[in-house]
Amino acid sequence: MNPQIIDNFGRKHTYLRISLTDRCNLRCFYCMPEEGVELTDKQHIMTLEEIVGISERFVSLGVDTIRLTGGEPLIRKNVETLIRELARLGVTLKLTTNGIVLDKFFDVLKEAGLRKINISLDTLEKSKSVFITKRDYFYRILDNIQKAIEHGFDIKLNIVLIKGVNDMEINDFIGLTRKQNIGIKFIEFMPFNGNNWDWKKGVSKEEILKAATFGYGGYKKLEDLKRSTSVNYQVKGFKGSFGIVSTITNPFCAGCNRIRLTADGKMKNCLFAASETDLLTPYRKGDSIDEIILNSIKTKKFSRDGMDTEMEKSHYEKNRSMIKIGG
Ligand code: SAM
Ligand code: SF4
Repeated sequence: MNPQIIDNFGRKHTYLRISLTDRCNLRCFYCMPEEGVELTDKQHIMTLEEIVGISERFVSLGVDTIRLTGGEPLIRKNVETLIRELARLGVTLKLTTNGIVLDKFFDVLKEAGLRKINISLDTLEKSKSVFITKRDYFYRILDNIQKAIEHGFDIKLNIVLIKGVNDMEINDFIGLTRKQNIGIKFIEFMPFNGNNWDWKKGVSKEEILKAATFGYGGYKKLEDLKRSTSVNYQVKGFKGSFGIVSTITNPFCAGCNRIRLTADGKMKNCLFAASETDLLTPYRKGDSIDEIILNSIKTKKFSRDGMDTEMEKSHYEKNRSMIKIGG
């Protein structure tokens, strides 16, 4: 299908990230406000049939890749049915999960042809994991990562680096790529509603590369996939690789092909978009949402929803918390 979701900068949007729920079994401090979030009423959340129906419209407009995210996507009731249904749309399916219940889904994921899984793991120390996530699932997550690798899934570990918390573990994470063909994805700490963002707590791409030079003496730059949001590297002789998502210090918006759909059926043109387009209400009325999608993308700003040079508090505080967007 020809890509039709094209913004005013000529960018073709073929990658849809769908949040299946705003609920989660962890409480990562960088993702949600300390006091928690108000959960959306069930009646306003897309049903599984609605997710499939809305996805079909996106696919008919040229979307060829769908990532399932959340909240924690795998705690959505009957998610296995949804995975099977979405697989029928003929898209490349991907998943981002915290890994806690991942082992229960290996079979259905394989059946659906879903190979690429990103798993969040911010630290290799149990006590720190409890501090970051406010829950105690560290060993279960580690175990499931290992099992997923053994089952042949293509695994990337997502790590949000925070100064004084896990930045001293950069080389330990890169060390995991020595013998295993996995990807390590370091993500710069980003600002959302209620997450007390301050770039002084963030760790930049430059600092990550400096740490890697210090730890391993060097690394080579890999050729990045077209539209990749990370710049990727490999230490000589290592099987896996590491990448950096530098949204704050080196945004990669020029080639952006992503659209987001929140669990309550709002289209977001950008992770930082303060405004959203409701697709669920017209869809429930039986109206066509194609024109709404095509018009909405025309309002997409070139970079970070208009925060071209710096992250403005008055802007990002108007956005949702990450847990309610779907990262
Ligand atoms: N629960 C799943 C998980 O943790 O992988 C999926 C949803 S989570 C919101 C998706 C990704 O967003 C995770 O990798 C998480 O680390 C990342 N994330 C959350 N808050 C962030 C922030 N403030 N800055 C950068 N990345 C963030
Ligand atoms: Fe939950 Fe993922 Fe957010 Fe952590 S990062 S609170 S696991 S949604």
